[in-house]
Amino acid sequence: MYDIAIVGAGPAGLTAAIYARRYNMSTVVFGDVVGGLMTENPCIENFPGFKRVNGAELGEKMKEHAEGLGAEVKLEKVASIEKKDGMFVLRTEWGTEVEARTVVLAHGLKRRKLAAKNVEKFEGRGVSYCATCDGAFFKGKTVAVVGGGDSAGVAALILAEFATKVYIIYRRGEFVKMQSPYVEKIMASEKIEPVFNEEVVEALGSEKLEAVRLKSGRELPLDGLFIEIGFEPEIPFETGFKLELDRGYIKVGPDQSTSEPGVFAAGDITTGSNRFHQIATAVGEGAVAADSAYRFILHH
Ligand code: NAP
Repeated sequence: MYDIAIVGAGPAGLTAAIYARRYNMSTVVFGDVVGGLMTENPCIENFPGFKRVNGAELGEKMKEHAEGLGAEVKLEKVASIEKKDGMFVLRTEWGTEVEARTVVLAHGLKRRKLAAKNVEKFEGRGVSYCATCDGAFFKGKTVAVVGGGDSAGVAALILAEFATKVYIIYRRGEFVKMQSPYVEKIMASEKIEPVFNEEVVEALGSEKLEAVRLKSGRELPLDGLFIEIGFEPEIPFETGFKLELDRGYIKVGPDQSTSEPGVFAAGDITTGSNRFHQIATAVGEGAVAADSAYRFILHH
């Protein structure tokens, strides 16, 4: 029996674990990627205290910190959470079962898929959703990024280290969502070329991706297409209780409590922090969630 079971090993979950251990709560963290989505950014420049830090390294540091304080981190995906005799029972896809007095849901978001024709068919054969993972395969090639937010900016800058040409295909006429440091670097790059007011309507090729057709009818020959069009909420496990959601995000109060007593939520999956999905906000929500879980145990 644990005092707190945390679902998600990104910045929100690992911070919750650090705070929980400092309250001496017995703590288990489940997650499939240490560091979560920030591992895909090799050059984070807005996490206080670090002018520049690799996301995967920051994730490892957070995990070491949590484990050093006595948290158990299990790299397993949670399949279900049920309520039994006032306790929560978590089961993983590998069959691990634990009981906990409180739960923190910090499992993040899932990638939004591009619904254009044949894009799915070329996944793994030119179409990718991760520049950090696949960028090096495109050394000397021509690639494009779809999207206009920070993720698209980061992906384009990563890809420019390998590819000879990087297009950013964006449906608006200028970058309105991307943070200015990324926009400035993109505009200054000789390799990166924005393609504004365009959308990918079809992926073309025989065995692998060879080109994309855009809304205007233009065909762009490409070796790789990287999709960075944001994220969507999901609850990827069964719950034996009903969680109140708002457009798929878990509704939380200022104390990160959810509609289910004893269940707290933190990070990108919540309605908290004005939905500003940053490492700094995830860390803050994780700390509050652990503190609230501690108080919940004190009063129950
Ligand atoms: P985002 O901010 O939601 O941006 C998604 C982009 O994709 C938008 O430009 C959107 O266009 C476009 N888009 C959405 N659906 C599309 C579709 N079906 N077809 C074509 N384009 C589509 O998502 P994100 O860039 O992944 O960022 C998510 C969060 O993570 C943000 O809070 C961001 O700040 C954060 N993040 C931060 C960093 C960092 O270094 N600080 C790095 C990565 C991510 P519109 O602009 O027209 O809506």
